[in-house]
Amino acid sequence: MARVHIKKNDLVYILSGKDRGKSGKVLKVFPNKNRAVVEGLNYIQKHTRPNPQKNVKGGILPKESPIHISNLMVMCKRCNKHSRVRTNILPDGRKVRVCRNCNELLDE
Ligand SMILES: [Zn+2]
Repeated sequence: MARVHIKKNDLVYILSGKDRGKSGKVLKVFPNKNRAVVEGLNYIQKHTRPNPQKNVKGGILPKESPIHISNLMVMCKRCNKHSRVRTNILPDGRKVRVCRNCNELLDE
């Protein structure tokens, strides 16, 4: 599996695209695609065809689309900045993410 530094429920900062400079909560991560869906950001207008058999109404449906994780940075709660993340391995073998700015643990 690819190395993904973003996890579900992280607060992330968007580095590029039309929502650059905004931040939001990660709803879902697609590690295989290196993409993540961020709540309320990167909306696309999804056009749907009416399909009476499936009871789907036609029209335009705003939908969050996945953002490539290289465009996302984790927000650190302690220094309140988007920050580079380092991975530390604890004595018990667990991997935890650490803020490179302030060395705060980003994982419980
Ligand atoms: Zn920090």
